[in-house]
Amino acid sequence: MNKIIAANWKMNPGTAAEASALAEGVLNGMTAELRKNTSVILAAPFVYLRDLAMLWERRRERHVVLAAQNMFWAEKGAYTGEISPAMLADSGIRTVIIGHSERRRYGGETDELINQKIIAAFKHKFRVILCVGEQNKDEAFEVLEQEITADLAGVGKAQLQNLMIAYEPIWAIGSGAPDTPQDSAQKMLYIRRLIAKKANAKAAFAVPVLYGGSVTEKNARDFLQEEHIDGVLVGGASLKPQSFLAIIAAGAPEALH
Ligand code: PEP
Repeated sequence: MNKIIAANWKMNPGTAAEASALAEGVLNGMTAELRKNTSVILAAPFVYLRDLAMLWERRRERHVVLAAQNMFWAEKGAYTGEISPAMLADSGIRTVIIGHSERRRYGGETDELINQKIIAAFKHKFRVILCVGEQNKDEAFEVLEQEITADLAGVGKAQLQNLMIAYEPIWAIGSGAPDTPQDSAQKMLYIRRLIAKKANAKAAFAVPVLYGGSVTEKNARDFLQEEHIDGVLVGGASLKPQSFLAIIAAGAPEALH
C-alpha cells in the first residue's frame, strides 16, 4: 500500500485565489514518481471545494484526492449552515474528514454526532478519515477504545474498506511537539486490535491508520518509516507547497529505505 499523505488546511488560506495557488503549487510539484508511489489527499474549506474541483477537471487531475473537512448527516432540510453528503458529492467530493478534535472542541461534536455522520458518509459511499486521539497522554488507550467503539457503532464490516483512521493526540496538534514514531506506532497497533475485535484481523490490517500532530518535513520520514503507520495527516506544514511536497517525498519508497 502506498503511504497516504493527507493535508488538512483547516480554516486556511484566506482567499479562493490563495487556495488555488496552494493547490496548484502542490499539483505542479507532483512528479510521475510521487504520483506512482504515494497517495495524496487535500482537505480544503467548503467554500473552495467547487473551484478546486473545477481546477482538477481542467488539469485532468486524477491522482491527488480532494476532501472536505466535515459534513452533516442529514440528507436535506432545516439544518442552517450545514452541508449534506449529496451537496459534497455534487461538487465532486467523495472523501471527508470526520471527528477532527477541533470540531469536537469548538463545534461541540460528540461521539454520537460523529457516528451519525460516519453512517451517513458510508451510505453515500464516501471515504472517511476518522480522527481520534487523547487530550492527556496517559489516557491514550482508554480514549481510543471509547472513541472508536462509539464512532463506529453500527458500521458494518464491508464499510470498513472506505475507512481511514487518523490517530491525532490532541496535545501534539499544532504544538511543535509530536508523539514519538515508536509510541504512535503502538497506538496504531492498538487501533488495529480494536478494528479486529469489531470485524476481523484482515479488516484491521486493511484500514489505513495515519498519524497526525506536528508532522513536518523534518520528522515525516521517521513516522512514515514505521511499518504500522500507513500515512500522515498534516495541518500547519501543508500550507506551504514546498513543505508539503517534501513530506510527500518522505513517503516515497526510495526515501524510506
Ligand atoms: C491536524 O490538525 O490535523 C494536524 C495534524 O495539525 P498540525 O499538523 O498542525 O499539528
